[in-house]
Amino acid sequence: MIQGIGASAGIAIGRSFVLPNWEWELPEQKIDVADFAREFERVYEGIRTSKSEIEQIKDELRDVVGSEETHIFDAHIAILDDPVFMNEIQGIIQRQYKAAEVAVKEAIDHFVTMFDLLDDEYMKERALDIKDVGNRLLKHLLGAPEITLPSDTQPFILIAKELSPSQLAHINPQHVLGIVTLAGSTTSHSAIMARALGVPLVVGVETKLEEPIQTGQTIIIDGSDGTVFIDPVQQVIDSYSELHSHQAEAKKRLHGIAGHRPVTPDGKRLELAANISSFKELEIALASGAHGVGLFRTEFLYMDRNRFPKEEEQFEVYRSVAERLGGEPLVIRTLDVGGDKQLDYFELPEEDNPFLGYRAIRISLDRQDLFKTQLRAILRASYYGQVKLMYPLISSVDEVRAANAVLNEAKRELEEAGLPYDKGMKIGIMIEVPAAVMIADLLAEEVDFFSIGTNDLVQFTLAVDRMNEEISHLYEPYHPALLRMLRMTVEAAKRSGITVGVCGELAGDLRALPIWLSLDVDELSMSSHSILQVKERLLCTSQEESREVFQKLHACRTSTEILEQLNGFMERINKKTANG
Ligand code: PEP
Ligand code: MG
Repeated sequence: MIQGIGASAGIAIGRSFVLPNWEWELPEQKIDVADFAREFERVYEGIRTSKSEIEQIKDELRDVVGSEETHIFDAHIAILDDPVFMNEIQGIIQRQYKAAEVAVKEAIDHFVTMFDLLDDEYMKERALDIKDVGNRLLKHLLGAPEITLPSDTQPFILIAKELSPSQLAHINPQHVLGIVTLAGSTTSHSAIMARALGVPLVVGVETKLEEPIQTGQTIIIDGSDGTVFIDPVQQVIDSYSELHSHQAEAKKRLHGIAGHRPVTPDGKRLELAANISSFKELEIALASGAHGVGLFRTEFLYMDRNRFPKEEEQFEVYRSVAERLGGEPLVIRTLDVGGDKQLDYFELPEEDNPFLGYRAIRISLDRQDLFKTQLRAILRASYYGQVKLMYPLISSVDEVRAANAVLNEAKRELEEAGLPYDKGMKIGIMIEVPAAVMIADLLAEEVDFFSIGTNDLVQFTLAVDRMNEEISHLYEPYHPALLRMLRMTVEAAKRSGITVGVCGELAGDLRALPIWLSLDVDELSMSSHSILQVKERLLCTSQEESREVFQKLHACRTSTEILEQLNGFMERINKKTANG
């Protein structure tokens, strides 16, 4: 067994197909001055062909993974259009009397080495983009055939040194059971695309292999933990086959309840919504029977590019999501960068405590130009569905009022421009800072809804950095302090008659369900893969029983005691369900 990095979850079992490396035979002879114009024209022609090929790939891909993933190819076109790239190629032809293909190869190598040397993951990814699009151009100049994957054999597990987005774009999930790449990272574009396609992927096995994998070997991969088996013994094949079919069965069983109403046996309805960060994740959410989107983390729209997205670009994405939801709610959270989420093109200050620093709503209120652009895009999208707006990291009434003042300006501007928006759009805030909990009654008078962000609320309440592995044992969502925080928040919301949901990771934790039921929260929003499991539980957990266990939780003094109560409750429900 070898241990790689799991980059796209799922188990795959099958024979390997090793993708040959791209090898180029380049002409060695020098050219004459008289040939310069012809060689330039060959490069231009190659660029034109490459660009139309990329456009075609984009069109084909858009239907499979959504328009957002195809932005990768916009970056490829931008490289081909970049005068710096062309100047480098022309310079090599003119100064060194080299043929077009040799000049292109040298230009690619030059830029790839330059970006690779930088100690920056984003720039390293750009090196991959240049290599990918450069290879496409080279292929056209050399008239080299495309390396194609077999489509007439049994489905296989693809093994490649690294896989470019262009190569992945051609992959048919019907033929490719899973992928192993020697290099690569979980944040690469290829990994993002593999997840969107639902193909299990393990990356980074290069240093772990004692000898290269050959085509035709039996391979098992587990994309959730990065395990790879090469020619495993029958016992391993059997146990992974069993796991694979269990996963498939459980998935099927759960999908059977996707259309059920999310109601407890004693009639409490608890809406289950999805957390998403891109359009592509929406399809998975809808297939899981999500009641709309309870948290759209818009910061991911700002990443994966080299400048702030324009109003029009944001509007297109928000509108597409709103329309696809067909009237179901869509909670769009304004930009929440800073902390662990950085933008390569936006220099955030070096801070000793970035989680307590310049981030989220604080940036928005400081950079009102950026904030208003986003608000205008959200407002315009509100005309096309049931859009709600949510501000992150609120800690005072002043912040809500200041944010609403910018919102009102944006509304005025749209009215002047004659652009429609939903005048009744609901405004909410994340409750993720202890100060917000303490003044929840005051905040509730300013907004239409609360959404409790337990990820941050746990870290701030317990003073435990959520990213610090050293103290991860202290990150206790079931700490009695948290329980009190949750109760205060929900009670304040109920007293003011506003709705309250939960959108942190705790919302998808089955053990926490009786807490939400007894507090009577209105909505849980979670990652799509948790929705059906939570719904299955909800269908057999009554609100009355939940209230009984909640009483006991309040008598607990430690998180261990609280967890004992919750685990005991889970077991009782399991037994009851098993006995019919
Ligand atoms: C949270 O803090 O619970 C939350 C949902 O926001 P994020 O995880 O994006 O910080
Ligand atoms: Mg948060």
